[in-house]
Amino acid sequence: MTAVPTHCPYCALQCATTLLPADRPGAVEVRPRDFPTNRGGLCRKGWTAAEVLTVSDRLTTPLVRNADGELVPTSWDEALDFVADRIRSLQASDGPDSIAVFGGGGLTNEKAYALGKFARVALRSANVDYNGRFCMSSAAAATNRAFGIDRGLPFPLTDLGGADAILLVGSNIAETMPPAVAHLQRAQEAGGLLVVDPRRSATAGLTGALHLQATPGTDLALVLALTHVVLQEGLADTTYLAERVDDADALYRSTSAWWPERAERVTGVPALTIRRAARLLAAAAPVHGGAGAFILTGRGAEQHSKGTDTVTACINLALALGLPGRLGSGYGCITGQGNGQGGREHGQKADQLPGYRSIADPAARAHVAAVWGVDPADLPGPGKSAVELINSLGTSGGPRALLVHGSNLLVSAPNLASVRERLAALDLLVVADVVPSETALLADVVFPVTQWAEEDGTMTSLEGRVLRRQAAVAPPGEVRSDLHVFSGLASRLGCTAAFSTDPEEVFEELRLASAGGKADYSGITWSRLDNEELFWPVPAVDHPGTPRLFADRFGTPDGRAHVVPVDHRPVADDLSGAAPMYLVTGRLLQHYQSGAQTRRVPELAEAEPEVFAEIHPRVAAQLGISDGRPVELRTARGAMVLAARVTTDVRPDTVFVPFHYGGAGAVNELTNDVLDPVSRMPEFKACAVSLRAAALP
Ligand code: SF4
Repeated sequence: MTAVPTHCPYCALQCATTLLPADRPGAVEVRPRDFPTNRGGLCRKGWTAAEVLTVSDRLTTPLVRNADGELVPTSWDEALDFVADRIRSLQASDGPDSIAVFGGGGLTNEKAYALGKFARVALRSANVDYNGRFCMSSAAAATNRAFGIDRGLPFPLTDLGGADAILLVGSNIAETMPPAVAHLQRAQEAGGLLVVDPRRSATAGLTGALHLQATPGTDLALVLALTHVVLQEGLADTTYLAERVDDADALYRSTSAWWPERAERVTGVPALTIRRAARLLAAAAPVHGGAGAFILTGRGAEQHSKGTDTVTACINLALALGLPGRLGSGYGCITGQGNGQGGREHGQKADQLPGYRSIADPAARAHVAAVWGVDPADLPGPGKSAVELINSLGTSGGPRALLVHGSNLLVSAPNLASVRERLAALDLLVVADVVPSETALLADVVFPVTQWAEEDGTMTSLEGRVLRRQAAVAPPGEVRSDLHVFSGLASRLGCTAAFSTDPEEVFEELRLASAGGKADYSGITWSRLDNEELFWPVPAVDHPGTPRLFADRFGTPDGRAHVVPVDHRPVADDLSGAAPMYLVTGRLLQHYQSGAQTRRVPELAEAEPEVFAEIHPRVAAQLGISDGRPVELRTARGAMVLAARVTTDVRPDTVFVPFHYGGAGAVNELTNDVLDPVSRMPEFKACAVSLRAAALP
């Protein structure tokens, strides 16, 4: 092995790394590589990523559950034969939709593409969705309806470095993607870093940051008030609104009732602070001679039953200030999962086909069907979104089998008691993973699959930058790519469409399928990626790519951005009764998503070994709870006991719990699976909770 350039296996920043040979079989050493986004930096997850390759409980052979209920090793052929037989039998009795497929935002573009094709062509099932529905679907829905295109950042991340003001709504990038903080420096120094978060996160605590510590679930009201100030104080970019925006009057109508004093009563953020923040943001806008301003959202804004509307309010504020499409300014979503962006472009989402096309669009169906060599009429229509799909498992008329790739539902989905019940009602659960995750341990069949340093492929970062992932080591034991699962099952099911196991061949097909779509990869080749920086869309092999979108027109039919009027509404749970406090969930520096990987890395696990609840000292005193002592949290979904971490970082009405832990430490036992009506995103980020002192179990 020589030095292999690739990218971190974790978050959407996709920091550049070089893998060097290590002294153990299958092991590598990770070194940071200079790259525009991470500038030679890595966070501690990236530095220790090599550990995941050689964890002691790595899955190395297919497993099948025997008559005694134990998962025992088997061969690939036997496992594939068994799964194919069960699929055939279930589909014969219950039809194509009796099989469901659940994907993940960490899969490579090639795997995500193959997964969607497998569901629709080999299984002929509409029931396919993925865990990105839990991640950034509200931002995707909001940007699609405002701009006609959803690309997390429609500009390079490095553009942030030239801005005098950046409003971060519900994004804790100092913990989730620390190297990105370097791009905030100018805004910090200018006093223009504005952080909306109910918790004093590491990002809210950055030097120079103005923290707007809003009540959970009130970001929308706060942003409406910021827009109100901009409009009432004559700070809007009226020329931009006239030239580039439809129905700008809706901005005035939808924010007129949100004067700062009213917003203060709802959000808890002082009216003076709201005015100050609005003026800081406006002063940085080009219309006022500023160097530039950005508004960025993260999961804190998006994971609500009104997440789409909250992002829409942020976009409306950006439009009022004339930011989107202007060099050095804009609105963007800080995508979380490693391939959260690419994962939603290639057809593993219930309502989409490759190229970010709508599955309901006859022209899109015809194009993709031609690439796949099938009749468009044979392609299923839109399926159920993730939570709706899970809730239908094992019900009358619902799917009876589920294939899960790259997702750990028993940690990451909301209302876990319900998820467990639905998974238990299945006739067949198949999980492809690299380690025995909580979900894999429940499966009937487990396929051991390759991970980042063992595979070639592409990923798409939060900026829409397409990146090469390169294999540096051979996978251990009987480990194979997810592409082998799709190919092996498709051929056993008698499907004649091609399911290549060569990722570059899959990418070549993806290029054809995406051609002409919003996320057009048709001009990208792996060899180009080895030598060029390419941001989609890239519609021809001699096209230079599109680092910045919307410079001249938006992606809507008329080329103008659309204002969608929105209004605040409370969280879905009732806080007036026995559960009077807000529970919010979030991330830690040391862990990634469900923690299936990072909880197995000794250095990370030792630093944050178990779940905890941050509670305010005043609440702790009322309940007689001291730091480190057990506290019981109870919501309408369930209860858990965990150690209290007493801190003034949280509001007195708020409890914060990280969601990276499984089993008794899984906070999603408590979260609410009520959905945003547009994006179908569950309300992870705010629910009603009661607290009391408890004994540790
Ligand atoms: Fe970079 Fe994210 Fe990996 Fe950390 S987890 S090294 S921020 S890509």
